[in-house]
Amino acid sequence: MSAAPSSAGQLPGGPSLPQERRLVTAIPGPKSQELQARKTAAVAAGVGTTLPVYVTRAGGGVVEDVDGNSLIDFGSGIAVTNVGNAAQAVVDRASAQLAAFTHTCFMVTPYEGYVAVAEQLNELTPGDHEKRSALFNSGAEAVENAVKIARAYTKRSAVVVFDHGYHGRTNLTMALTAKNMPYKHGFGPFAPDVHRVPVAYPYRWLTGAENCAAEAAAQAIDMINKQVGADNVAAIIIEPIQGEGGFIEPAKGFLPAIAEFARANGIVFVADEIQTGFCRTGQWFACEDEGVVPDLITTAKGIAGGLPLAAVTGRAEIMDAAHAGGLGGTYGGNPVACAAALGSIETMKELDLNAKARRIGEVMLDRLRSLQEKHEIIGDVRGRGAMIAVELVKPGGKEPNPEATAAIAKACHAEGLVVLTAGTYGNVLRFLPPLVMPEHLLLEGLDILEGAFASH
Ligand SMILES: *Cc1c(COP(=O)(O)O)cnc(C)c1O
Repeated sequence: MSAAPSSAGQLPGGPSLPQERRLVTAIPGPKSQELQARKTAAVAAGVGTTLPVYVTRAGGGVVEDVDGNSLIDFGSGIAVTNVGNAAQAVVDRASAQLAAFTHTCFMVTPYEGYVAVAEQLNELTPGDHEKRSALFNSGAEAVENAVKIARAYTKRSAVVVFDHGYHGRTNLTMALTAKNMPYKHGFGPFAPDVHRVPVAYPYRWLTGAENCAAEAAAQAIDMINKQVGADNVAAIIIEPIQGEGGFIEPAKGFLPAIAEFARANGIVFVADEIQTGFCRTGQWFACEDEGVVPDLITTAKGIAGGLPLAAVTGRAEIMDAAHAGGLGGTYGGNPVACAAALGSIETMKELDLNAKARRIGEVMLDRLRSLQEKHEIIGDVRGRGAMIAVELVKPGGKEPNPEATAAIAKACHAEGLVVLTAGTYGNVLRFLPPLVMPEHLLLEGLDILEGAFASH
């Protein structure tokens, strides 16, 4: 089947969906509403949906639903489809693998794809030291394994994490995650020996953004020394830009200061790049921005174009500290997911998606900053590359405004724009377009957002 370029221009990979917003029913339409009723009757209530339009196809910058609507995608399934949905190289490689074999278990009879993904990760992640990788199914599982590896290497048990941090929904990663509702509420008790310290959140730093990095680092380090004891700490885990916490970019200088403290105290420094990785911020990994070289790095989301895959990559001597048989899992590094990852990484290189992410960031930041001048409730505009957010506040101050955030997200949804919210206070609109998003759709999405603010 030859993909006829749409009038809006052919998208780089992915199914040949017309790259246009098209609303033919209310959002959600009648067929989606029917499916949502079935969902309510069949699926556990704890599994929520942000925008209940039921998808039939997706690609480039759009998501098509069962009612024939085409929505602009500013979510990428939470920073997963960086290369677009059903990107050609992902489809080709995963399909071929699917037809060859679907599973043997790498721990039983291995296959090349797993090794090739590990090689790619070792090459692409920061630092030219010798590295090893291990593959898993989900981000939470990767973070859990990073903790196992750091504990095996250091023979210590404490783990330090940060305010506003998010690391997953399993028991240990709930303990590592800051926000109670909805992630932790009623689900305890949580894994012990996890300690939370301040992060350099410039917009809300009480003595001002210019003091933020140094003061936050000093406070965090003091808390670790006084309350935990540096030589009890196996790992410090941080997202170089916090995702669910509201796209908080720690003030410049904070990450290097924490990494240096970890190095000086024999603590394994773990960058959780599950949301920020794979070109999302305009670099392969967000910690490159300040030249930080983590000991371990966790990846997932953007790695495999939508198939479930996750990894821990890091210094060979740390990664090899866990005994043989101590790491793994039945499905970890599934061959189809590995094939998809190789297709995804190939696409990122071929299309120079880092450059595309940077371009998206320029366009978005420019528009959002001028929007901020018109709307007092936009307290902060921030982010890097295609990981951009606005933080909404009550007029005249910095009090979080989750009501306006929800209302504006809802207005965008009704107009056929998929946007997500985030933040400890639920007052952040976050934008994560696929990096292959055609620019006319990016601009149209921003128009819709502008309209939602104007009519709020
Ligand atoms: C999404 C996310 C996780 C958890 O990944 P899952 O695949 O949902 O388990 C962990 N850390 C960060 C930074 C994330 O964004």
